[in-house]
Amino acid sequence: MSLNEREYKLLKELTELDGIASFEDDIRARLKKEYLALGYTDLVYDNLGSMFALKKSKIKNAPKVMIDGHMDEVGFIVAGFEKDGSIRVAPIGGINLLKCLDTKYRLRTATGKIFVGEPQNKDITDPNDFKLNFGFKDDFEAKNAGVNYFDMITFITEFKEMGEDRYLCKAIDNRYSLALGIEILDYFKNFDLPFDLYVGGSVQEEVGLRGAPCILNVVQPDLAIVLDCSRAVKEENMLGHIGEGLLLRFFDPSMVAFKELIEWQKESAIKAGAKYQYFLTRGGTNAGAIHKSLNGVLTLNHCICAIDIHTPKSIFAGSDYQDAKKTLIYMLEHFDQKKLDELKAMRI
Ligand SMILES: [Zn+2]
Repeated sequence: MSLNEREYKLLKELTELDGIASFEDDIRARLKKEYLALGYTDLVYDNLGSMFALKKSKIKNAPKVMIDGHMDEVGFIVAGFEKDGSIRVAPIGGINLLKCLDTKYRLRTATGKIFVGEPQNKDITDPNDFKLNFGFKDDFEAKNAGVNYFDMITFITEFKEMGEDRYLCKAIDNRYSLALGIEILDYFKNFDLPFDLYVGGSVQEEVGLRGAPCILNVVQPDLAIVLDCSRAVKEENMLGHIGEGLLLRFFDPSMVAFKELIEWQKESAIKAGAKYQYFLTRGGTNAGAIHKSLNGVLTLNHCICAIDIHTPKSIFAGSDYQDAKKTLIYMLEHFDQKKLDELKAMRI
């Protein structure tokens, strides 16, 4: 199923925003606008920049559910100036530079000036030779134009449909989570829920799961659901294919899944009429940091996959987004203190 108009608009607008770790300002401002427009005025923050909307239950001491997604995307900062005017960059997050040659870049200075550039040399075979050209004739001209060390640089990619239910964009990792979070808040806005619902964006995931544990201390949830976009594979015999549905992510090096939560997720997908696929990977998500915080937190990954994440051109399937949404709505509609006790009882 192709994305509907609302889904398309949200995913397009969110993936076209720029925000690397510690530069999530535009993303946070956009989320805040969406949350307030939906009537969520109760917002919680930490000191790093994460922000969550809170829907409080009428029930006293209700359990707390936190739905996390990270705001930041992979990108670069200015790391040096060459005599020939080109700019040396430092990647922020895991990037294969050799997959980033056929694209344009946006550099934003501290005062908000924008420069558009491209790789100095598109034929390099050594990532150490990666430099960007923004049209400056030498290093003095670049500095005089206002470019400085630590300015943010991001990919320029216009969101577009690539044929039957396939979409190309940057940063679907992890604006997927923010779009879905907004839709969840919209869906439940007139419900009385038997739990406190926190939905929002954490910062600095791509540099090592740094933001989520901080906001976690503020929220102190009983259940955390982590939305993220994982790497899809092309090989038939490996796990993670676009168009095959929600990921039941049972293992990565940072977390062995809670088997009771995977079971609950799978049953919910079946009941909601959503496709699902088992998934394991070498990459981590915020779940890796969250589940071992506090006294241990029941944590579940609720992910989709996309081809070529962490590059300027990722491709995802609209139906995967919809399968994740259907299943998450079903899970939340059937969650309460009793369900929590049931899930916790399996570890006592
Ligand atoms: Zn991610």
